[in-house]
Amino acid sequence: MTLSFVHDALPMRVVFGPGRLAELGDEVERLGLRRVLVLGTPEQEATLRATADGLGGRAAGVFAQARQHVPAAIAAAAADRARELGADGCVAVGGGSSVGLGKAVALRHGLPVVAVPTTYAGSEMTPIWGLTEDGEKRTGRDRAVLPRTVVYDPELTLTLPAGLSVTSGLNAVAHAVEGLWAPDGTPITALMAEEGVRSLLAALPTIVDRPGDLDARAGALQGAWLCGAVLGATTMSLHHKLCHVLGGSFDLPHAETHAVVLPHVVAHNGPSAPAAVAALGRALGVGPDTAAKALADRARDLGAPTSLAALGMPRDGLPRVVDAVLAQPYANPAPVTRESLTALLEAAY
Ligand code: NAD
Repeated sequence: MTLSFVHDALPMRVVFGPGRLAELGDEVERLGLRRVLVLGTPEQEATLRATADGLGGRAAGVFAQARQHVPAAIAAAAADRARELGADGCVAVGGGSSVGLGKAVALRHGLPVVAVPTTYAGSEMTPIWGLTEDGEKRTGRDRAVLPRTVVYDPELTLTLPAGLSVTSGLNAVAHAVEGLWAPDGTPITALMAEEGVRSLLAALPTIVDRPGDLDARAGALQGAWLCGAVLGATTMSLHHKLCHVLGGSFDLPHAETHAVVLPHVVAHNGPSAPAAVAALGRALGVGPDTAAKALADRARDLGAPTSLAALGMPRDGLPRVVDAVLAQPYANPAPVTRESLTALLEAAY
C-alpha cells in the first residue's frame, strides 16, 4: 500500500539520565510552578519525601496514597489536598499508579503534571487517564493530563524488583507491538516501537541477573520511554481489549496478563500484519515467522508467567471472555471470530 499517514506529535519535554533527578527543581521552575504537590504510593513514601526535600520551598507537600487503577476516592482526596495546600502543579513519582493519580488531579483541577517514572509502564508518555469507582474502571484521553515534563532517572529504577521489572517491561512491549499494527501508526511510531522493544528486551535479562546494573536500567528505561510514546500516539487493538476483559472480569494481575496473552495475539495477527511482525522479528533478532515464538521464549526465560491458568483464571470463564470481546467492535488487523478467539484463549490457557 502507498504510504499515507497523519502524525500528531505530543508536546512533551523529556530529561533523561542518571542523576537527573537533581534537576527536577529547575524543571519545575521552567514551567513557572512555585508550589507542587509530590504524589506517589505509600511503598515509595521515602522516595517522595526525598524528592520533596530536593525541591525545597517549591514543594507544597507530599501525598503518598496512590493505588493501582486510581480509585476515584483517592483521586478526590489528592485533588482536595492540592487545593488546601494551594498547589499550582503536581510531581508524580513512581509507576503507572502514581502517574495515574497525577493525571486524575490534572483532570479535576487542570494542574500541570511533571512525571518522574520509576517503572517501565509508560503512562507518563500518554494523554490516557483512568479512574476506578464501584469496581468499574473508566478511561479516556485528554491532552490536559499529559505530563508537561518527564524526568527519567535510571538510578530511581535500581530498587524495582526483578519480577516487577520484567512484568512492567513486557507490558511496555505489548504497547509497542500493538502500535506496530495500529490503524493510526506512522513511520515514526513504527521506529519508536521497534527500537523500544529491542532496547527493553536487550536489557531485561541483565536486570534479572543484576538489578543494580545502571547501564541495563538506562537501556530498559529508554525502551520504556519509546514504548510509552507509542501507546500515547496510537490506538490499541485485540491484545489490549483481551487484557482489559480478562483483568476486569477475573481480577487477573494487569502486567502478568499482558505477558501471557501477547505472544498468542502476535501469532493470531501476524499473517494479517506482515510489516509489524517483520519489525518485531528485527527487534528480537529473528525472522517474521518465528517472532511470536521468540517473544514467548523470551518471556519464559525472564521468568514471566506463561499461562492464564497460572494466573488463576478459571477455564469455564473463557466463553465469557469471548462474548465480551466480540460484543464491542474495534480495529484489528486480523478478523476476530468466535472460533479464532476461542482457539487463541485455549492456547493462552
Ligand atoms: P505500579 O505503579 O502500580 O507500581 C507497582 C509497585 O511497585 C508499587 O507498589 C510501587 O510503589 C512499586 N514501585 C514502583 N517503582 C518502584 C521502584 N523503582 N522501586 C521499588 N518499588 C517501586 O505499577 P506499574 O506497572 O508502573 O503501573 C500499573 C498501572 O499503570 C496500572 O493501573 C495500569 O492500568 C496503569 N497504566 C496506565 C497507562 C496510561 O497510559 N494511562 C499506561 C500504562 C499503565
